Amino acid sequence: MSPLHDARLKLRAELEAPPAFRRFGSGWLSGVLGLVLGLAGFLLVLTLRAPGTFTTPEMRGLRDGAWFRFGLHFALLAGFGCSAISMVLRKGKILGGSGVALALLAVLLGGSESTEAVPDPTALTFGLDFFVLRLLFTGFLFIPLERLFAHRGEQHIFRTEWREDLFYFLVSSLMVQILTFLTFGPASSILLIAPLTGLRAWVGGLPMVVQFVAIMFLTDLVQYWVHRTFHRIPWLWKFHAVHHSAQTMDWMAGARMHFFEILALRSTTVIPMFVLGFNPNAVNAYIFVVYLYSTFVHANLNWRFPVIEKLLVTPRFHHWHHGIEKEAVDVNFAIHFPLYDKLFGTYFLPEEKWPGGYGIPGNPVPKGYVEQFKYPFGGGKRTDGSTEKEA
Ligand SMILES: [Zn+2]
Ligand SMILES: [Zn+2]
Repeated sequence: MSPLHDARLKLRAELEAPPAFRRFGSGWLSGVLGLVLGLAGFLLVLTLRAPGTFTTPEMRGLRDGAWFRFGLHFALLAGFGCSAISMVLRKGKILGGSGVALALLAVLLGGSESTEAVPDPTALTFGLDFFVLRLLFTGFLFIPLERLFAHRGEQHIFRTEWREDLFYFLVSSLMVQILTFLTFGPASSILLIAPLTGLRAWVGGLPMVVQFVAIMFLTDLVQYWVHRTFHRIPWLWKFHAVHHSAQTMDWMAGARMHFFEILALRSTTVIPMFVLGFNPNAVNAYIFVVYLYSTFVHANLNWRFPVIEKLLVTPRFHHWHHGIEKEAVDVNFAIHFPLYDKLFGTYFLPEEKWPGGYGIPGNPVPKGYVEQFKYPFGGGKRTDGSTEKEA
């Protein structure tokens, strides 16, 4: 076993430590915080050293602001500090040691003062900055909420298959440029054939709130039927089954989605908001809200909204969509308005109850990103080692 592999296993065992080894004062929390901030700082320094390869043009405004470098400086200092505290408190030094090493490496590479060192070879970019900022923002927002208001209190942050879901998060962030480009393909083609100038001007002139709500309704209607089609057609189901293979619901579970399903879902749901000429401000606000909303409905949150849950999709509603129970099969396709499920006969929300578990009976989907990528094309390796021919 190589020392690096050995260190990786030790680090993983530390992150997944049982409750007795992560109680307050054990150096676990400071170690995890230090590691996350050290790694985030190190990756952001890489993006500053090779901006042509690792940055997203859409993030430029944020990156060029004074707060970005101040935040990076703070992350590196805090990462170093937390890791040092963990090294003092904790018997095992791998958590703290890794955080210290990453923060020091980032400083050696230039730290928050880093400037471009690697020229930009192609127009192709990978959203490494997007990954780090998205993960920090979503994690720091949802992890404390999930700790305070957990539906399943015993569920660990580093629960089963957290690495797989984090990898999905990484891939969809790195590929943001390609995904965005391909997402708008069908909508742009429609506009070439039918410019809809008059209608677009009228829609774009509506009050912003009306536009925002209209986008929500139209997008969810398209999403409902695309989603339902993915459940109905066996070949498409194999793509969507990857999303349903998650056996744990939390803020990261929603990231698990086959690359081609992301493309299909996004490129169809953007059609109404792009073709009908909604104001870009309303569209951008919706994209931000739908990201938070889709994270929220997967989250491990026990929040009950007695009246609201009849009108808007809540975690309990979408958790039933992922439920392992028979009654949970092919129900609750909407992601904003349960109204669509009521209208089309797929609504299921028993009073007070939550599903007993999540996933697909028999667990037909193999484990791991690569095997799951290959799964819809047949021949995916099953978890028991055999080769699956048919769903
Ligand atoms: Zn589904
Ligand atoms: Zn889901």
